[in-house]
Formats: sequence, C-alpha cells, structure tokens
Amino acid sequence: MQPDVNVAPLPSIPRRRDLARAHHERGGLVAAVLPIHYPRALLRAFGILPMEVWGPPNVDAARAASRLQPYVCSIVRNALSFLESGGLQIADLLIVPHACDSLQGLGSVLLDFVHPAQPVLPLYLPRNPAPEGTAFLADEFRALHQRLAEVTQRTPSESELMQAILDEEVADDLLRRVHEQRPTLPLTTFDFYHLVRAREFLPLDSFVSLARAILAMPAVKSPPKIPIVLSGIVPEPMDMLRAVDELGASVIADDLACCGRRLYPAGRSRDPFMRLAESLLGGSPDSTRGSPIQDRLDHLLGLAHSTGSRGVVFHDVKFCEPELFDLPVLRRGLRDAGLPSITVEVDLNDAVSHQARTRLEAFLEMIA
Ligand code: SF4
Repeated sequence: MQPDVNVAPLPSIPRRRDLARAHHERGGLVAAVLPIHYPRALLRAFGILPMEVWGPPNVDAARAASRLQPYVCSIVRNALSFLESGGLQIADLLIVPHACDSLQGLGSVLLDFVHPAQPVLPLYLPRNPAPEGTAFLADEFRALHQRLAEVTQRTPSESELMQAILDEEVADDLLRRVHEQRPTLPLTTFDFYHLVRAREFLPLDSFVSLARAILAMPAVKSPPKIPIVLSGIVPEPMDMLRAVDELGASVIADDLACCGRRLYPAGRSRDPFMRLAESLLGGSPDSTRGSPIQDRLDHLLGLAHSTGSRGVVFHDVKFCEPELFDLPVLRRGLRDAGLPSITVEVDLNDAVSHQARTRLEAFLEMIA
C-alpha cells in the first residue's frame, strides 16, 4: 500500500533568477558556487547570496569539449558550458572548491584560459583528518575572507561573522531534523528532494521558513514503501527520483554529497574560522574529503540499520573518480553484511534510460 502523501500543497520555491535579482536590488552580490563543501556563513557575512551549480543538467555540453578531456564528468562539463553560454551572468563571483581532480582542473581552466568576467576564487579542502586538517581549512577560510573583502570592498566584524555562523548553524540543525523526520513526512521522494535541495540557493531566512514548514507537516501514518538508502553525488536527473516513487520505493535516508553528507554539526571553537572548519569537517564520511572507505561503509550500514532500509542504490555520475574508487569495496562490504546494493551510472544530460529503470525495478522486486 502506498503512503497517503502530498495531501497538502507543497511550499512554493522561488526561482533562482528572481532571488538573484531581489538580492542585487538590496545591494548584495551573488556567488555561483561549484560543488561540494564551502563556508556558506562566510559568504553571507559579506552579504553574498550563494547559489550552487551542480551541472546544471540538460546543458549543451559541446562548448566545453575543446577545453576538457572527454572523460571529465558531466557536472564539470556542464558547468563550464553553462558559464560559457552566459548561464552564470547573474553571478558576481565564482567559487570553485577543489572537491576532486576534475573540479581542480576546472578552476585552472577558468583562471588560465577562460578568464570569465567574474573573479574566480578557488578553495582547497584538506584530505587529512583533524587537527591538522581543521587548522589547514581554517587558514583557507581566512584567505577566502581576504579575497572576499577585496571583491566586496567591505569587511564584516568578527562578531558579524560569528552571528552569520550561528544563524547558519540554526539552518543546518533544521535541515538535519528534516532529514531525520523523513520517514513520516507526507512527501514523495521526488518532492522531498525538490524541497530540501532549495538549501542550495535560498537566502537563509527563506530556507529556515521552508524547513519549519516541512517540519510542521502532518505525519504519514500508513506504512512506507520499499525503504532504500540513496548514495552518490547528486540525484540528477531528478526523473530518477520519480522512477523510485513510481516503482513503489522510497528513499528513506541518503548518503548524497549534495544532501546527507552536508548535514553539518555546529562547530565548537570561539574562533570563527576554526568553528567553520570544525563544522564542515564534522559532516559524514565523504569520498571527496578523502574519508577512509571503512568509515563510509560503517556510515552506510548505520543509515540502513537505523531506518530499516532494505538496500542501497549507488547513483553515480559517469567518470566520477572519487566515488568509483570507493565503490567496489563499499559494495563488497555491504554484501558481506547482508545488505544488497545496485549501481546506476548517469550523465546529467541523459534521460533515465529504460535499461536503468528496468534494473532498478528488478532490484526493488528482489529486496521487497
Ligand atoms: S561528480 Fe565526481 S568527479 Fe564530478 S565534480 Fe563531482 S566529485 Fe568531481
């Protein structure tokens, strides 16, 4: 039996273009931010609205072909094509975190060859754990703070920065609660991600209101569909989530780089940069942060056991090296622990193929 979902209208999400225009009219700047981890609060302290760019999907990627190798993933290919076709004109600056070799390469291509109209600000992420990694990342944030001060011609005080951090921690806590409450939310898998991924571009107040509206939704009483864990980078194309709903399943927990791996805990330090670093590095294990595979396996098993999930779907972007490296060990570990898994590889510009849908259907039948 399918849950009685979406009986009430969903909260509406403003369009990015409208949000950017309104923010500009208030005198703020807009940053286009490439995946995956970055200090939202630091940008907000400078009056900058971060808008994340996960591709986007369905872009004519041909423009990037002359600058990138054919084995670069579609997130990076699409981002470069989108930029070169004028899709990021609303942005006043570009932030490129070095989540992987492909994104690091994109940063170099932008700085050395493309020379976009906007300043390009790279951000290096540590691959080593605390305390060295935390101190390194705090220094990276100090350097970014300096660059942002040059770009915006303003410098927030330390107390303004700390207030921005505390405000973001409230939003992060709400997002974590939304994820925890997911099994009883009256939302399809597609609608859940449509709403929570608005964190990628909404102003802080708008996201806090949205999260509170989600948490206030009446709980679903009927039993869930086939519960699964979704792992990977980003659930694009989003039609794949519609397929999950149509096939009688429900993503009840996720290990997605854009969602579950960014449920950051609050930092503890009184130094704002250390506090930001502690928070970012406190997220769940992530291939792009160099987390040990065993930590990722333990995390996936913990997610599955705590939610009663019957299997794990790895939904991976083609040519995603960090994810592909971990995959064989993760799947073997899940199998040894008695948890079935399946891998679906996607390109952001392709529709969900019949073959992928059929494989997903067969997998769900097996674990039902
Ligand atoms: S999909 Fe993988 S390879 Fe591509 S940008 Fe993301 S982490 Fe890097």
